[in-house]
Amino acid sequence: DVTHGRILYLEDVSVSFDGFKAIDKLSLDIAPGELRCVIGPNGAGKTTMMDIITGKTRPDSGSVFFGSTIDLLRYREAEIAQLGIGRKFQKPTVFEQLTVYENLELALKTDKGVLASVRFRPDSAEGDRLAEVLRTIHLAGHVDRLAGTLSHGQKQWLEIGMLLMQDPKLLLLDEPVAGMTDEETARTAELFLSLKGRHSLMVVEHDMGFIKTISEKVTVLHEGAVLAEGSLEQVQADERVIEVYLGR
Ligand code: ADP
Repeated sequence: DVTHGRILYLEDVSVSFDGFKAIDKLSLDIAPGELRCVIGPNGAGKTTMMDIITGKTRPDSGSVFFGSTIDLLRYREAEIAQLGIGRKFQKPTVFEQLTVYENLELALKTDKGVLASVRFRPDSAEGDRLAEVLRTIHLAGHVDRLAGTLSHGQKQWLEIGMLLMQDPKLLLLDEPVAGMTDEETARTAELFLSLKGRHSLMVVEHDMGFIKTISEKVTVLHEGAVLAEGSLEQVQADERVIEVYLGR
């Protein structure tokens, strides 16, 4: 069993756009409950990699496994979300005219496929989950606030909370702390550390201070493949990484 002990496993994945290799024999694995940071210069292939994992982009070759048995290349994008992979894009997308509570409720409803016009009340287990998520995302004191009145950081947390309502096994997050204040960034580090274990996380980030705070394994992508992997200190001391970041 090649995928034993991995929640996500990419092997020799390649994809070209008009003859340009955006992803070039990329191999990478994430352990269950791990919090992994992915860095790399612009154009390294970080977005394309997430597009491949979530089924938005189909690779030309290679394999992508979720857990030990699920071949993700056999599933469509909507099905992959149902399998327990949540993705958060950089810009927060919450329903600004709804309250914090209603946003989380709606995330439950969407999961159930219930029509949005049907009044929906969470059952007691769902209510417990909602309360737990509210505490996790630091918004328990803001349930009745309209999402549109939240700070940028709070909107980001709310959107993460909406993903958490589906209890995903794997969360993919694109530059989650971009535009946050220092305090929000510090609280986001806390939030991610509290999520790991129950969830696996893959976080694409440029903020080295943030990565240093969470202090987890870092993967450096360059030209569509893994250039280096290890602690932040290890990859920052790697000459190939220095060359890529500082230019030749
Ligand atoms: P990153 O997220 O690390 O900045 P991307 O995954 O966005 O990198 O892009 C990797 C490379 O692939 C870039 O050179 C980009 O221009 C190219 N690319 C990405 N998507 C497409 C596409 N749909 N068509 C053509 N080229 C693309």
